[in-house]
Amino acid sequence: MASQSEHKATVIDGKLIAQTIRSEIAEEVRQLSEKYGKVPGLAVVIVGNRKDSQSYVGMKRKACAEVGIQSFDMDLPEQISEAELVSKVHELNANPDVHVFEQSIVILAGILVQLPLPKHINEEKVLSEISLAKDVDGFHPLNIGKLAMKDREPLFQPCTPKGCLELLHRSGVSIKGKRAVVVGRSNIVGLPVSLLLLKADATVTVVHSRSNDQESIIREADIIIAAAGQPMMIKGSWIKPGAAVIDVGTNAVDDPSRKTGYRLVGDVDFNEACKIAGCITPVPGGVGPMTVAMLLKNTLEGAKRVIVQ
Ligand code: NAD
Repeated sequence: MASQSEHKATVIDGKLIAQTIRSEIAEEVRQLSEKYGKVPGLAVVIVGNRKDSQSYVGMKRKACAEVGIQSFDMDLPEQISEAELVSKVHELNANPDVHVFEQSIVILAGILVQLPLPKHINEEKVLSEISLAKDVDGFHPLNIGKLAMKDREPLFQPCTPKGCLELLHRSGVSIKGKRAVVVGRSNIVGLPVSLLLLKADATVTVVHSRSNDQESIIREADIIIAAAGQPMMIKGSWIKPGAAVIDVGTNAVDDPSRKTGYRLVGDVDFNEACKIAGCITPVPGGVGPMTVAMLLKNTLEGAKRVIVQ
């Protein structure tokens, strides 16, 4: 048996897995176009000029183009009122899906509103106005509600949580009956990922900023999903030998040795964790690429519901 110092966790290559999924999606889109003359479309709404949001949206648009999903840009000014934004969302909800693109009809299957929205706009209000059938981000309260209920299925699962589960499946990590600990309870990651794990028959504990004795709870986990946004908070000694570790955390920390002056780290101390975990996702290159791949997958699934009846 390898001693602890020799042990090296399997690094889960999220970039590669996401690329495989994107190829699968591209193939399905090609088949839809060939068989039905229809392709999926995604409306990408961005409000204002935040650099980070612009760059995320750019990435999503490029990823759509790569797999043959037609994206529609809706770039709105920072000063737009909440009522105006809601009415734009209603327009997209009612969109009759008749854009013709390279001889295919584009089915507007999804609406994505890039967050955060400017402070004067209530995000919750805007997100809950997106038609359930086009809620490819899966943030609509009804979709989340269904995720929480036994024997109910949401139309869409939120992208980052869905990406975490997909990483586990594709890495051969079984979930049923396992002890899973989710660190973080946000509406977009921690809470929905804990619900997905529960649906997959794990025994789930959620650790959050008010939890006592986080370390010993985390140490019991066969599966750790870290989504606290706290750089390298989870130490190697907090991890059960052989555990599967999915690190959602994406934190910029100062690094004068880099040109940019910073580098990205996860919520898990990667180097320490590698000596004890069974498998682990890196940051970057783990969960991040999966989030975009799952957005494409949701858009494809939404379009299939309309096209293949
Ligand atoms: P958030 O700030 O909304 O929520 C953080 C959660 O962690 C809260 O529920 C809080 O209770 C908990 N928490 C905070 N400090 C804690 C501590 N010391 N111990 C235990 N729990 C603690 O953040 P979020 O939007 O859920 O994102 C979490 C992290 O995941 C961030 O680093 C974010 O950048 C990253 N993220 C990555 C992706 C991706 O695609 N890779 C997507 C979304 C979020």
